[in-house]
Amino acid sequence: MSRAAPGVRAPRETIVITGANRGIGLALAAELARAGKRVIGACRAPARARELAALEGEVDVRELDVVDEPSVVRFAASLADDAVDVLVCNAGVGGGSHQALTDMDYRAWRETFEVNTIAPFRLATALLPNLRRSPRPRIVALSSQMASLQRKSGGAYAYRSSKAALNKVMQVLSVDLEREGIVVCPVHPGWVRTDMGGAGAELSADASAQGLHALIESLGPEHSGRFWTWDGKEHPW
Ligand code: NAP
Repeated sequence: MSRAAPGVRAPRETIVITGANRGIGLALAAELARAGKRVIGACRAPARARELAALEGEVDVRELDVVDEPSVVRFAASLADDAVDVLVCNAGVGGGSHQALTDMDYRAWRETFEVNTIAPFRLATALLPNLRRSPRPRIVALSSQMASLQRKSGGAYAYRSSKAALNKVMQVLSVDLEREGIVVCPVHPGWVRTDMGGAGAELSADASAQGLHALIESLGPEHSGRFWTWDGKEHPW
């Protein structure tokens, strides 16, 4: 980890968060902006992202649809030569209401892979020039315990398979980027009360964001290519 000399203020870190307009992404944007980070909050519809735009601190709201290649190219170009210290691939979908043994929506399954699996890779590679400008670059992808091969439970085929594949993508990326010192980790954020997690979930979005913040601060090369939980425990693959 690079540290500023005594009396010299460390440069403010820049964090890109996708899907920052609601849910865990919004709570994490609030948490990190409050902590003095420069947050680039990416979302599909900036004009409607009023809560994100109203957050305290340095929050820059930018348009990004993670599955739309031209949108990714425009977003990356908007960063120009800025260093990105942390990329949080948070945008995700739950796979819809037809992903059961006898009721499968195959189009929704493919779309779930587009958002949850392919888009984080596309964005991470698009932002590599910016990550390379950071003294301590990290890529964190929001995965799920529902992807773990150690957990045996039924249903949610689209969601589980898309996040299991995301885990593998992030592990491979961690190997490919190891020599450059770019840390890559999939993270389970807890079961969180959001539109996706539902009202009965265990954790508030703020509590999850606080844990994710501490985890992001702690990540070093020794943590790369491993699966973590929001509260800093290693998750079995
Ligand atoms: P959420 O409340 O449903 O929010 C999802 C976010 O993703 C929204 O901002 C949404 O934007 C964005 N998004 C979806 N498709 C997008 C696209 N094509 N381009 C850009 N943004 C897109 O979900 P959440 O609960 O906050 O979950 C955040 C992440 O944590 C997800 O990856 C999820 O799988 C993961 N996770 C959540 C839980 C949980 O309990 N909540 C548990 C494990 C993992 P729009 O507003 O434009 O739709």
